[in-house]
Amino acid sequence: MSVLQVSGLSKSFGGVHAVRNVSFAVVAGELLAMIGPNGAGKSTCFNLINGQLTPDAGRVLLEGRSITGLPPRAIWRLGVGRTFQVTATFASMTVRENVQVALLSHARRLPSPFAQAPRLQVAQADALLAQAGMLDQADRPAAVLAYGDLKRLELAIALANRPRLLLMDEPTAGMACGERAALMRLTASLARASAIAVLFTEHDMDTVFTHADRVIVLAGGERIAEGAPAKVRADPRVREAYLGTEALDA
Ligand code: ADP
Ligand code: MG
Repeated sequence: MSVLQVSGLSKSFGGVHAVRNVSFAVVAGELLAMIGPNGAGKSTCFNLINGQLTPDAGRVLLEGRSITGLPPRAIWRLGVGRTFQVTATFASMTVRENVQVALLSHARRLPSPFAQAPRLQVAQADALLAQAGMLDQADRPAAVLAYGDLKRLELAIALANRPRLLLMDEPTAGMACGERAALMRLTASLARASAIAVLFTEHDMDTVFTHADRVIVLAGGERIAEGAPAKVRADPRVREAYLGTEALDA
């Protein structure tokens, strides 16, 4: 079963059809890149999935269950995590404390009588930090981290909620080329290890075509192509949508 199944999703703002009848699915362990020129409808699509926006039409299913129109907090509780384009960590806290806070809020969402002791959360936090390659920085304040390390901390924080689906809005924005590749490799290995479905937007085409398992292309709110990276890159409709931008040329 797909982790995420979107069907017939539509959203207009006044006269603007931001998203028109868009359908796609993402399976566990898969990285699906959503690309398209500025204004194509990518952010709107993300916001329809995470509950920031309510669709005019269509359905969003998470592991077969409808989450269409639920509020963001409810969707997060059901296992939809996100990392933010602008990094959202508590700067004054240490790296480990940031993950502990995330673990605590995950534990609180469960109606368990066995509330975990903070001591246990240290071990869990360190396990997540090790997965994200950040354990050696656990005691540093988040404020002093390099940009790439902040992104890896964000990933650890998102994983603390044990998401089934991870939405990443331009995860590598502002990163140098080598850092981008490292973050995407890390994301792919974490997605595979924990059977998480990943949907990400990205404007760097090298990153998309190197790291995505599949690519979906939007233009003018509509899906114009979907498939394996090489096939999408060669698609005449995709090349036309990106005409003049040189984005697709290696
Ligand atoms: P992308 O993320 O692919 O650049 P968006 O989803 O942000 O595209 O935007 C798709 C279209 O919808 C654009 O024409 C944009 O101007 C419009 N749009 C997005 N959000 C709003 C909004 N809150 N109000 C009015 N128009 C919007
Ligand atoms: Mg956008």
